[in-house]
Amino acid sequence: MRSYFVGPVLALFFISCFSVMAHAGSQRAVVRQDVAVTLAPENHLLTGESTITFAAGAGPVTLRLSTAASIESVTVHGKKVPYSFSGGTLSLELSPDNPGMSGAMTVSYHARFNDQVSQHPAAFEDPTYGVAGIINREGTFLGGNAYWYPVPAQIPAHRSVTITAPAGTETITYGRRVSRETAGVITRSAWEEAHPVGVLTLCAGPYQIETRHVGGIELYSYLYPGNAALAPSYLDAAANYLKFYSDLFGPYPFEKFAVVENFFQTGYGFPSFTLLGGSIIRLPFIIDTSFPHEIAHSWWGNGVAVDYREGNWSEGLVTYLADYLLKERRSQSEGRDYRQQFLIDYASLVSSTSKFPLSAFASRSDPASRAIGYGKGAMVFHMVRSLIGDQAFFGALRAVSREHMYRFASWSDFIRAFSLSSGRDLSPFMNQWLTRPGGPSLSLTEVVSRRNATGWTVSGTIVQAPPLFELGVPLRLETSGAQVWDVVPLTGERTRFAIESSSEPRRLLLDPDSEVFRVLSSGEIPATVNSIKGATRLVGVITENCRSRLETFKGLLASLSQGTATIVNETDLARWATSDYDLLFCGTPANRNLLPALPEGVTLASTGFSIDGVPYAAPDGLLFLVLPFPGNSGRVAALFEPLSDAAAAQCAPKITHYGKYGYLAFAGGANRRKGTAPAVDDRSVVQFQP
Ligand SMILES: [Zn+2]
Repeated sequence: MRSYFVGPVLALFFISCFSVMAHAGSQRAVVRQDVAVTLAPENHLLTGESTITFAAGAGPVTLRLSTAASIESVTVHGKKVPYSFSGGTLSLELSPDNPGMSGAMTVSYHARFNDQVSQHPAAFEDPTYGVAGIINREGTFLGGNAYWYPVPAQIPAHRSVTITAPAGTETITYGRRVSRETAGVITRSAWEEAHPVGVLTLCAGPYQIETRHVGGIELYSYLYPGNAALAPSYLDAAANYLKFYSDLFGPYPFEKFAVVENFFQTGYGFPSFTLLGGSIIRLPFIIDTSFPHEIAHSWWGNGVAVDYREGNWSEGLVTYLADYLLKERRSQSEGRDYRQQFLIDYASLVSSTSKFPLSAFASRSDPASRAIGYGKGAMVFHMVRSLIGDQAFFGALRAVSREHMYRFASWSDFIRAFSLSSGRDLSPFMNQWLTRPGGPSLSLTEVVSRRNATGWTVSGTIVQAPPLFELGVPLRLETSGAQVWDVVPLTGERTRFAIESSSEPRRLLLDPDSEVFRVLSSGEIPATVNSIKGATRLVGVITENCRSRLETFKGLLASLSQGTATIVNETDLARWATSDYDLLFCGTPANRNLLPALPEGVTLASTGFSIDGVPYAAPDGLLFLVLPFPGNSGRVAALFEPLSDAAAAQCAPKITHYGKYGYLAFAGGANRRKGTAPAVDDRSVVQFQP
């Protein structure tokens, strides 16, 4: 699997999980639970004893425990009591005959956990690698789904865990670390939760531990020796993100936060720690992408748990507050690009057969469910924030955090909080996005510009294909002077609009900044590296300006899944009906008509190129550009422009990792600039004749 974690396209794999809480059943309250386990990694064995104290009263009790477990005894106040254990359910009757029923019952058991780490997960979208529980010399992971201790139907009011392992094997689970010691041949640690949440996960390995104390929270790193040098930067980042999010959402809900390394390549966020695979931790961008995502789950998903009956809101919210918001804080344009990517992903990945409403989203299982649960979910939060403003939006999040911490929250709780903080009923608006599959598909029509006494009037119609949504659609009128913005409230199938301008209109654009969720038409999806990968009739063209060896160019085609494409010289191209093909040029063609117009800001010269005024020169510069042909043919042309053969050899293999980008500039062997020119489709952009 490691080979998958090599490029910047991979951030999507790490968008991860958080622990799943069981909804409390009808069983009686659990006053406290104490768990003590001993790990024997050489034979994958866990030996455990757990004491559970129920609220007073008689009646049946059920606990979940791994089907792999053998129970040695169940006792109440030291006296063995009858029980049944089958299919992972331990049942017994607490009758008045049992002495001291308000007291404690103790389960003694042992179990082996040795799930195989899948080398080839069925899909990238399986974040578990098929592992619920594994104890071995390399490391130990016991997730909540492994039921490695007897799990009551209700979350205990207090919970403690003591873990004993061979000396040098450090262990970690939820809660505050009460003690940690190595004595003789064993290492032991004890943990205690003031506010238990979810089902416990336990990790162990030959960790090196670093500690820091920031703002009343213990910060730990539990890293393997090979990655221990990364501890200071992760602890710094953790301190920064915890401060950032505490200011936004309210106090951090747990006693500690730890970054823990896993020996297989997960990206998990658990209550009070995040578990990242060793290869993932080393990737330089993780600390600013997956890491804050997992930290934001501390509040959303772990602290405030998901009530799944109305769907999982947490991935959309965390994607919005981490992956997206951190981009927006860097610059408005990075925020806009990220929103646009949500729409592009949705249009490219969700088909009419794979679409479902957000209220049916539980967790990602494929690219379509990710585009819905994460991307569309994030856009719903963005639309709410645009509608009610930052103060009401973040105020509502603080209210949900305050009122639902250590408990469950549903979409309805968010609707209530947003409505309350903004003083308007947001249920009709939000419910349409939550309960309906898909989204609006919009187009401009009948757009005309007319001179009037004081300037110009641009009028037209926004057409919405059923099912109809209610939303405000931003329009931007570009003129010879200032831009004019309008927001058109849509309710029906056709909505007329009119925009006044004192300067001459140039272009009218429908939601150019991707402020609202909608289903883009194919013509609105920008030309990107992925368009070349998906091209069905691609021809590689060697021009006289091609500075790359043929072998390198062939390697590039192969890396773009186009290894079988025909390669011709530009001089021979005249014999081809080029209008039937997608074209990938090595070097700028002598006949510039073969290349569609360059995006704004990009200029080509014989000695180099520039993007937004930044020049790239020989020998190490390289430009890769994908351009749509005009009209709605869907055809594209790409330009591969290395400024030397060495630059070609060094950078060509990297291009495939930038699938969602339309232009890439490399220098010194590294990517320096990447971006995507917006698609120009006449359904969303109308050009006025001068
Ligand atoms: Zn997540």
